[in-house]
Amino acid sequence: MNVFTRTVKTTNHKKQVLIVGGGLAGLTTAESLARNYSDRFEISLLEAKRTTGGRAGSFQESKTGGTVDYCQHVAMGCCTNFLGLLQRQGLDSQLHRYTRLKFFHPEHPVSTFTPSRWLPAPFHLMPALSNLRYLDRSQRRQIKHALLRLFRTSSEDLGDLLAEPWLEAQGQDKTTIGDFWSVIVVSALGESIDRVSLAAVRKVFVDGFAAAHGASDVLVPKLPLADLIGRQLTVAIEQLGVVVKTGQVVRQVSSEKEIAMADGRVLAADHVVVAVPWHVVNDLVPSGAVEKLESLAVAPASPISGLHLWFDRQITDLPHAVLVGTVAQWVFRQPWVDGKTSAGFYYQVVISASQSARCLPRQELIEIVLRELRHAFPEAQSAKLVQSKVVTDPKSVFSITPQFEELRPPSRTRLPWLHLAGDWVATGWPATMESAVISGRMAAASVVQSEFGDNLEVEAGLPRNWLTRCLIKP
Ligand SMILES: Cc1cc2nc3c(=O)[nH]c(=O)nc-3n(C[C@H](O)[C@H](O)[C@H](O)COP(=O)(O)OP(=O)(O)OC[C@H]3O[C@@H](n4cnc5c(N)ncnc54)[C@H](O)[C@@H]3O)c2cc1C
Repeated sequence: MNVFTRTVKTTNHKKQVLIVGGGLAGLTTAESLARNYSDRFEISLLEAKRTTGGRAGSFQESKTGGTVDYCQHVAMGCCTNFLGLLQRQGLDSQLHRYTRLKFFHPEHPVSTFTPSRWLPAPFHLMPALSNLRYLDRSQRRQIKHALLRLFRTSSEDLGDLLAEPWLEAQGQDKTTIGDFWSVIVVSALGESIDRVSLAAVRKVFVDGFAAAHGASDVLVPKLPLADLIGRQLTVAIEQLGVVVKTGQVVRQVSSEKEIAMADGRVLAADHVVVAVPWHVVNDLVPSGAVEKLESLAVAPASPISGLHLWFDRQITDLPHAVLVGTVAQWVFRQPWVDGKTSAGFYYQVVISASQSARCLPRQELIEIVLRELRHAFPEAQSAKLVQSKVVTDPKSVFSITPQFEELRPPSRTRLPWLHLAGDWVATGWPATMESAVISGRMAAASVVQSEFGDNLEVEAGLPRNWLTRCLIKP
């Protein structure tokens, strides 16, 4: 029996849990409850769209019929909850792991960022930093100084500081901010350096680079997100006993625990987990159930653009590369068919915090990016662009400003049966798949806690050695 029968209590006394939203947050809530408490809960998940996966999704390219991700998603070695979720379903082998990153600067030879395998963390980063050939000695000194200051200041002491003024106060010149800090911050946080909170920047550099070996490894799906998350992960969760229904739009959850559907049905459940994006959650939940939700609903978002480019030949055999000092930020070769599709050789250029780029006329943006690719990769000079598509989600991610951090609620609400999940919940992480998965674990923990008083833990991050525990404040 499930919530579609409109019956609250079941004959076998299992409690009904209804999850609204089938992105990674909702899917993880379902997986955590089903894996650990299948004898106590009946779990149903309602997703408005035709497929699950939410923002981590793909579209069908009309001319080729191929499946293309709206935007390339990557995880890092530090994303232990996301990787754990895939591992539990036997899907972790569906990610390529890269330990090196190639950086292309228009005026310098290519650099390879390779953390040392032998030096203990956080000193394993020193050779990687020295290998960034576009930075001079004085810039590297500036960076080491600021990194040490960041490690020696606990995140609680950073309060509501913005990153850029703090970096300037640490003696970072404009070029160092632009070519080093900004490059990493914009791709990791999806927002420009002048707007992001310093606490979020610290999180990236501590958890994503310094805390442990392997933290900065880059993991790229070997198949489209629609396949990995929308199909394989979803099927694995259904096999745990979860009922997943797509094309189900929830209009509102009332304070009487009634779930009004857009098609007029009314459902009921013992617990409701709302796992929708931050800008729509206020429309769904009973008013007064969550503090500051009105402000969260209008909090600024940041766009990310994906430029999908098909060439008549290969422009580089690298699986991905970081571009420094250019409009294009990352380029990815499609990993699941060695780049070759029926329309040509496919590459995707990602531009995070793309506010300025998306104001350019589409053709002008493509011309600029083509010039940059031709400069970086000699093979691109003779390649002809045969097809292109620009996809921008204006609300890709929330803008991780100091003000946003203050608005993020916990999973638990004022109503013991109502719980929240989504990358925007107070996970301590920026808008990432890792944050969505942590929030799903938090929501499952909130359900379990409120029903039985049990605890369900979120997975710990990568283990830290004694040196990082001494050098890096919590
Ligand atoms: C362009 C782009 C690039 C990104 N790149 C990366 C990256 O490289 N690495 C990374 O880690 N993260 C990346 N992210 C962020 C990542 O996709 C998100 O953080 C994560 O997928 C959020 O998951 P979620 O479940 O919290 O929300 P969502 O994925 O937004 O899921 C919410 C779900 O709720 C559903 N829903 C909404 N309203 C209703 C309703 N009324 N009834 C029923 N269902 C409803 C929606 O249809 C959706 O499926 C990127 C995001 C974008 C947009």
